[in-house]
Amino acid sequence: MKKLIAGNWKMNGSMENARALIANIINRLETDEDVLKKCDILVCPPFLHIPAVRHAIYGFPELRFGAQDCSAYENGAHTGDVSASMLRDSSCSYVIVGHSERRQYQGESDATVAQKAAQALKNDMVPIICVGETEEEREKGLAQEIVDAQLAGSIPALEPFHDIVVIAYEPVWAIGTGKTASVDDVAEMHGFIREQLDGKVPAPEKVRILYGGSMKPENAGELLSTENVDGGLIGGASLSAESFLAIARAAG
Ligand code: PEP
Repeated sequence: MKKLIAGNWKMNGSMENARALIANIINRLETDEDVLKKCDILVCPPFLHIPAVRHAIYGFPELRFGAQDCSAYENGAHTGDVSASMLRDSSCSYVIVGHSERRQYQGESDATVAQKAAQALKNDMVPIICVGETEEEREKGLAQEIVDAQLAGSIPALEPFHDIVVIAYEPVWAIGTGKTASVDDVAEMHGFIREQLDGKVPAPEKVRILYGGSMKPENAGELLSTENVDGGLIGGASLSAESFLAIARAAG
């Protein structure tokens, strides 16, 4: 399975920064075409920077872009929300849903995440459904139980043709902290997730399971070559074209 290397730019940078970052990524990819043979590359800018990224990527369809969230609703009185159909109108092909920062700071429940993922699918986008335990939950030995419950609650009812959801395993304690899960823990959790997908998605073997949490060029090779790790969701290190593409290069 081709790996997916996804950059989550979060709420960072100005329009000028976004233009410079995407231009830098494109320039580097133009001189290093092998990267795109090894993996699919996705960037998820803030909503307002999506049109600038779309403009820059025009003519470079191998590079994909998406959003960091979408509304759980189709349209209507949801002030401040952005619907999945609006994102699709803007040519997004992926949407991150249920990131731990949204679960934590916006109080998003599994049911809300499932509604968002369903909206993404309905609008022909691939949802990247994030799951992961807190440090306290891991210390109490509850990591698998928590992730299992999140998977059960956050994956919407799928049609047989919906084989293209992506799961991102992101241990909350590893996000933006510089701490990464050990390769053994990642292998164990990704294997567990693959097993739990049975019965929840039409084709578990086709689902890409990404690892996220302080992935950087120094640890990417090891993490990305772990069994059942089908790519990475990268926050901090995706804000530099150099480190983002160094991670992508490690996906071989
Ligand atoms: C993330 O926010 O999805 C993430 C993995 O962040 P970081 O790489 O900075 O830990």
